Amino acid sequence: MSLRSVECQLRHMGTTRPTPPPSVECPNECGAKFEKRFLEGHVTEDCTKRMVQCEFCDTCVFYKDEIAHMNACKRFPVPCPNGCKLTDIPRGEVKEHIENDCPKAKIPCPFSVMGCDYKCERQRMQKHISDEPTEHLSLVDSLSVCVQKVHDLEKLYGSQLVWKIDKYSERFQEAKTGKKITIFSPPFLTSRHGYKMAVSLCLNGDGKAKGHFVSVFICICRGEYDALLPWPFSHRCTFTLIDQCQDPSARRNISYTIKPNACKDNKPFLGRPVGERNASFGTQKSVPLNVMKTLDYIRDDTMFLKVHVDYDNMILL
Ligand SMILES: [Zn+2]
Ligand SMILES: [Zn+2]
Ligand SMILES: [Zn+2]
Ligand SMILES: [Zn+2]
Ligand SMILES: [Zn+2]
Repeated sequence: MSLRSVECQLRHMGTTRPTPPPSVECPNECGAKFEKRFLEGHVTEDCTKRMVQCEFCDTCVFYKDEIAHMNACKRFPVPCPNGCKLTDIPRGEVKEHIENDCPKAKIPCPFSVMGCDYKCERQRMQKHISDEPTEHLSLVDSLSVCVQKVHDLEKLYGSQLVWKIDKYSERFQEAKTGKKITIFSPPFLTSRHGYKMAVSLCLNGDGKAKGHFVSVFICICRGEYDALLPWPFSHRCTFTLIDQCQDPSARRNISYTIKPNACKDNKPFLGRPVGERNASFGTQKSVPLNVMKTLDYIRDDTMFLKVHVDYDNMILL
């Protein structure tokens, strides 16, 4: 303000009251009133109801709610609660980090379903598995008894299906996202003139096993020799996940056997197929997903599942 205008104002004081400049209300309805010339400054810098954008999740929130938002924002970076080296995990991904990745998370031995009670930090688990190979081998062995028994017969007739599943990580992702939950094997014959069957797998689990176990199912397809075969189907089916360890004597295959129960209710599964194929039977809980990540069950993004149908009492045509 120049000296002249100050003089001017002083001279007028007492004679005329200066009219107050017209005031406006905040367009954001925060309740503030001010001279119009302050409007822009108010709405961009002071107004408690102005919008600000969260730099982490891009959501727009009222300025007054910004702190509350930061305390709840799912993208806000937080340090790992287990104290691993990650310090900027989006808040909403902490749970997944602990469940799947955190090297300091305490996890049960992947062979726990087979009786190993050991628990330790994830980063030490691989060492535990390689330090105790005989213990784990014996745990796996107890599941493989039936396979051992039929081994000689297998030499005679050959294994019926060794299903090679390539592009494992892609197929697993498709199962996880729900894009393609189930994959099917090519059909195979249980013997030269035997039952025609097909295997299906849910790599990320089916139903209650989702996210925890691989689910394995088998179904009987309509085959050329059905007229000559005994019905209902009554043979045990053994699925073996093959450990692709380069030293065959060190392999720790995991087997799971299903014994069909030929009762009347199971006719849609075990009876002679009337349609193209019967309903599938099997198990939701075969190999735990965390076991899949160990040893060489997946190698070069490929897994092998051997399917063996028991020869006990089978009529070989
Ligand atoms: Zn305002
Ligand atoms: Zn946010
Ligand atoms: Zn962590
Ligand atoms: Zn263990
Ligand atoms: Zn057997």
